[in-house]
Amino acid sequence: MLRVDGLSAWYGEAQALREVSMRVDEGEIVTLVGRNGAGKTTLLRCLMGLHGAYGRTTGTISVSGDDVTGLPPHARARRGLGYVPDDRGIYATLSVEENLTLAPVVKGGGGPEPWSLERVYETFPHLRERRRSPGTTLSGGEQQMLVLARVLRTGARLLLCDEPTEGLSPLFVQRIGEILREVRAAGTTVLLVEQNVHFAAAVADRHYLLAEGRIVESLDRDQVREREHQLLEYLGI
Ligand code: ATP
Repeated sequence: MLRVDGLSAWYGEAQALREVSMRVDEGEIVTLVGRNGAGKTTLLRCLMGLHGAYGRTTGTISVSGDDVTGLPPHARARRGLGYVPDDRGIYATLSVEENLTLAPVVKGGGGPEPWSLERVYETFPHLRERRRSPGTTLSGGEQQMLVLARVLRTGARLLLCDEPTEGLSPLFVQRIGEILREVRAAGTTVLLVEQNVHFAAAVADRHYLLAEGRIVESLDRDQVREREHQLLEYLGI
């Protein structure tokens, strides 16, 4: 589904990614784990085509066998990529429902069924209750649900999620985990930046450990469970 070969990225002269090669297969949930500043957000932005605003990149990115390296973000969205940024990207002056109805639907992608508003409200009852409120008046957990729901409305085939559980209460973290599993069962592939190793181990099939812009290890579910304490210590959590 996603293949990255020799991806490097710079901010001016400072190199943030060094020859990153990785893959995510269809139907997988894969996490990117690493300390602050390791390059996780930079990697997701490169995948979505958003790094150009900051600096240059080299290497190649392909989605379902098509080279998307030179394509702008909207063209990658049309090929089924959906991005959930870490700053949440909610339109402050718009209501919850307006934020939800702005999302364009990916056409002809052969991907999962785009979520209807009704399905969003059934899955996220908080959003139904708050549908007339400005998006930014929601709690952190509700905002995370809103951004996730907005991407699901597009029918994206590959979700790129930047720390969806950051700052959320255990109840919301659990709910996000359930939703990611549900979304995967319905045909969406997920690449997730995650500092919460316990959560990552519970939801994901595989993990890449990123350090100083390089992939230093690739771990399967059992390896992460066995090394959970060591990873927590490494990440400084
Ligand atoms: P965090 O969890 O703290 O967001 P991260 O693993 O996502 O960390 P990045 O945000 O990708 O890491 O940062 C990777 C490197 O790039 C860091 O050295 C960071 O200081 C640098 N960097 C990130 N954004 C910028 C920017 N806009 N301008 C200059 N340097 C940046």
